[in-house]
Amino acid sequence: MKYGIISDIHGNLPALEAVLSQLKKEVDVFLCLGDIVGYGAQPNDCCELVRELKPIIVAGNHDWGAVGKIPLDHFNPYAEEALIWTQDKLTSENREFLSSLPKTHESPIFTLVHGSLLNPLEEYLMSSSQARDTAFLLTSKILFFGHTHIPTIFFFSQDVEQPLWISDFPPRARNRIPLRDDFRYLINPGSVGQPRDGDPRACAAVFDSEKMELMILRYEYPIDEAQRRILSAGLPPILAKRLSFGW
Ligand code: ZN
Repeated sequence: MKYGIISDIHGNLPALEAVLSQLKKEVDVFLCLGDIVGYGAQPNDCCELVRELKPIIVAGNHDWGAVGKIPLDHFNPYAEEALIWTQDKLTSENREFLSSLPKTHESPIFTLVHGSLLNPLEEYLMSSSQARDTAFLLTSKILFFGHTHIPTIFFFSQDVEQPLWISDFPPRARNRIPLRDDFRYLINPGSVGQPRDGDPRACAAVFDSEKMELMILRYEYPIDEAQRRILSAGLPPILAKRLSFGW
């Protein structure tokens, strides 16, 4: 089975469309790790495209912030401003959809969460000690997580505990990362709509459960179109600007 893994779309429709135009041809099932909305100017379009995929999906903090399930004082001022705007724009169907998303999804091969297993919606899994704390709670071989917007792989065996940033892999190797039988993995596929690793291209991943291979993929998209939408919606200009730099 080939899984397409998307996360942190953040209302960026041009980025989501670019990713899906490729991934739809390649994968059998989609996994979505949350934050469909927030920051970007097309929350409803993004919700509708994601709903059409019928993905296995979990909630992100912005998804629940946009429907009043997480207080807005948990967000930075720009995120809060964008969430107030998003709350006003969401259709009732999309509000219901975002409200209904679960915190985690578990299967024998993989578990999905937005943040971490200690704090499913809000912890940023950045360090190997945090990864270790979450790995203790992991019942599957792989955890797919989002929230940091940085493609990352942590791997663990009996005697090896090591975080790996995707920048540790040479660019060509990122297209085919073998997953070992005796390791457990915590994998972040990066962000579709607001990358923060210095590469402004949209990011997503493909997991092939037969070959046990992971691919981290980047996609060019019309960034200026997403920026134009943000500015004309009256959202904070910084949210448009940062898309050019991928931070
Ligand atoms: Zn996010």
